[in-house]
Amino acid sequence: MPEQNWAGTHTFRATAIHNPTSIAEAQAIVAAADRVRPLGTRHSFNDIADGVELLSLVDVPPAMITDGRTVTVTGGVKYGVVASWLEQQGLALHNMGSLPHISIAGATSTGTHGSGITLGNLSTAIRALEFITPNGELETISHDDPDFGGAAVALGALGPIALVTLAVEPSYQVRQDTFRGLTWDALLADPDAVFASGYSVSVFTDWASEQSDVWVKTRLDGSTAVPDELFGAQRETGQRNVLDGVDNMTVQGGVPGPWSERLPHFRVDATPSNGDEIQTEYLVAMTDAAAALRAVRELAASIAPALLMSELRTVAADDLWLSTATGRDSLCIHFTWANLPEAVNAVILHIEAALAPFAARPHWGKVHALDAATVESLYPRLPEFRALVARRDPAGKFGNRHLSTLLGIASRRPGAPRPPTSGDRKGSPRESEDLRERFVAP
Ligand SMILES: Cc1cc2nc3c(=O)[nH]c(=O)nc-3n(C[C@H](O)[C@H](O)[C@H](O)COP(=O)(O)OP(=O)(O)OC[C@H]3O[C@@H](n4cnc5c(N)ncnc54)[C@H](O)[C@@H]3O)c2cc1C
Repeated sequence: MPEQNWAGTHTFRATAIHNPTSIAEAQAIVAAADRVRPLGTRHSFNDIADGVELLSLVDVPPAMITDGRTVTVTGGVKYGVVASWLEQQGLALHNMGSLPHISIAGATSTGTHGSGITLGNLSTAIRALEFITPNGELETISHDDPDFGGAAVALGALGPIALVTLAVEPSYQVRQDTFRGLTWDALLADPDAVFASGYSVSVFTDWASEQSDVWVKTRLDGSTAVPDELFGAQRETGQRNVLDGVDNMTVQGGVPGPWSERLPHFRVDATPSNGDEIQTEYLVAMTDAAAALRAVRELAASIAPALLMSELRTVAADDLWLSTATGRDSLCIHFTWANLPEAVNAVILHIEAALAPFAARPHWGKVHALDAATVESLYPRLPEFRALVARRDPAGKFGNRHLSTLLGIASRRPGAPRPPTSGDRKGSPRESEDLRERFVAP
């Protein structure tokens, strides 16, 4: 059976997919490989994770350790596993994506985000990363390292991340409420106010309808009160699904619960979203939010035939070089499409043209049609990222077609000289055998 991504929309071209069960085994595979790409839980919709050979860390038994301020976990662990373990320790992450099924390293490598006007994307929680280098050694890049801004959203270009250290905080409770009937006039009059009405706010729209739904996740640090009306939209008491007929959501209706079971939209024990789908998403500056939404809304009739649902969220600005929110507080304009590639490929060209005046940045893990010149114009620090990759992976072992075509990152040419092995270097590589002693299994 050909190997595919989670949605079945991309068939991997790789000739081998390695699934080591220890970091030490992964190090040996990387050292021996000519070209190898890290692979996570395969939830990206394009070929960003593809390559000549792939290496996934999801079969490495999950391990985690915390000092109360940070948690360090193996890169292939899923967010849901880490979140429920942290909750048991009385700790929490600042935010989560819509689904808990994605790997920590894979999600942060593409700048995966939740929502929240003051909340950075998931990569902004990273405090240190331990990479497997091209010759199979382990090398840490910490928050205070000059390379950190490039390493935190590295798209797999710096090699497999064996360990991720994330900031944690004391556990907190969250309630989720859904509001029905937000008019476009109310949203466009003051998008900042709508998205500031909770800790994490999403607006669900099909663009054509006059009214949208608002989902508000309220952090219960003090008052637990939530209004019955939000900019004219009315609070509901029952459970709502993103897609009609698909019962897979975390508990709503204002019922308080731990952050780990309220911040993701989708329950860990259910299939997230629809499954048979394509996703695209573009991030624009919050200051352009109303104008960008108006521009997309003009396309409502062209969008409708392939659309399952759109979700609007926000992310706070950060300074990570390839983060889709680098340098600007952002509105995320997301589309979940039916699995109709031709129709989707046609309509996203119109959406990208409409959003071009706003320098819209596409989600790295979703389908888009922007070219290299446009991507270059969106990321002022892309030249620095290229230099970082050239320095840390000089032979292009971790490159692939996606990175070379879209970002101009050189891949290893067949027959090119092999990089030096660990035996060529002074000192012995740090072995990962001691990891088992450093960590506790969840
Ligand atoms: C149903 C669904 C819902 C989604 N919801 C959201 C959402 O709420 N917010 C959002 O922003 N995105 C969302 N996404 C997109 C998703 O979060 C990203 O595509 C994410 O990168 C997927 O993580 P993954 O572990 O599957 O990585 P993969 O798709 O397997 O890989 C993604 C990238 O990470 C690299 N990578 C993977 N593992 C490692 C590693 N160990 N070390 C170094 N690099 C690695 C790969 O080389 C590749 O470049 C959603 C996707 C789906 C299918």
